[in-house]
Amino acid sequence: MKRHDAKIVLKKLFDSFGKTSPTIPQVEVYIDWAEQYDDTVVNSTIDKMIKGSKRFPVIADLHEVARNERSMIMDTSKHCWYCGDTGLVPALYRPNEVSTIPYTKYLACSCIRGELMAKHTPSYFERFNEGLQFQDRITGDETIDYPDLFNGWRHEIIVNHKEG
Ligand SMILES: [Zn+2]
Repeated sequence: MKRHDAKIVLKKLFDSFGKTSPTIPQVEVYIDWAEQYDDTVVNSTIDKMIKGSKRFPVIADLHEVARNERSMIMDTSKHCWYCGDTGLVPALYRPNEVSTIPYTKYLACSCIRGELMAKHTPSYFERFNEGLQFQDRITGDETIDYPDLFNGWRHEIIVNHKEG
């Protein structure tokens, strides 16, 4: 969640527990917490706390509830073929100053799992202009998830790359 939005929902939390004038360092700790999670997760966590918690939640409480909320959202979301429900899509990179051989890097999927699990990872679909890196290999009736297909091709692609 963005800092600006975090301030608004956290005010709701502080207010509902009668903490009308929390100190700035105190608020900062809570903002740090909110910045680590997606909007949906932060909102439902704060709602749960306001409705169900008898005492003002400490950061550890918030992390615990937020992690549960996150896994619940992920469990109930529909299957994602692009990332195989990991939130990450593999991409093959050419040799460069980092690696002398082609290497795999995982970028964030655009599905809910990508948003929840990899919010600080660069976006796969931005990197490849909303398409797939190996779009030409996709036949359209795949039953195997893209990351598994990718792993199957990876070796062949690297061998061809060396020969070509
Ligand atoms: Zn996905």
